[in-house]
Amino acid sequence: MPAIEDFLTQAEEQDIIEAIRSAEQHTSGEIRVHIERHTNLSIELRAMELFHFLKMDNTKLQNAVLIYVAIDDKNFYIYGDKGINDVVPINFWNTTKDTIQNYFIKGQFKTGLVEGVLKAGKALHKHFPKQHDDIDELPNNISKG
Ligand code: CA
Ligand code: CA
Repeated sequence: MPAIEDFLTQAEEQDIIEAIRSAEQHTSGEIRVHIERHTNLSIELRAMELFHFLKMDNTKLQNAVLIYVAIDDKNFYIYGDKGINDVVPINFWNTTKDTIQNYFIKGQFKTGLVEGVLKAGKALHKHFPKQHDDIDELPNNISKG
């Protein structure tokens, strides 16, 4: 697998950021992407740890979602906050997960993340429509390491 800096080109990162912006046009939910090489923890635990580290648990409706990718582990996890889990079915993230997986298998990481972010936005839209007074509570960027 490529080094973390080479995983996505600058242009590809911009496409993902654009997807986050676009997804957040339709939902009050906040979406972020975090990428690193490897974790010794279980993918779920690490995603949860990063979620708190990135202060994603501070949204008003507790409706942020983190898409976490461990490149070398060829693994990823979608971690949604309590406000989401309280109101959605248990398999809520499956469509998003399948979308990402289908592209990752083909080595299409950028497309997988773009499509995954958009899918997550659509899923969130039903339960958390965008409000008139919406604010962008979390930065629309990709964090690493
Ligand atoms: Ca928002
Ligand atoms: Ca945001």
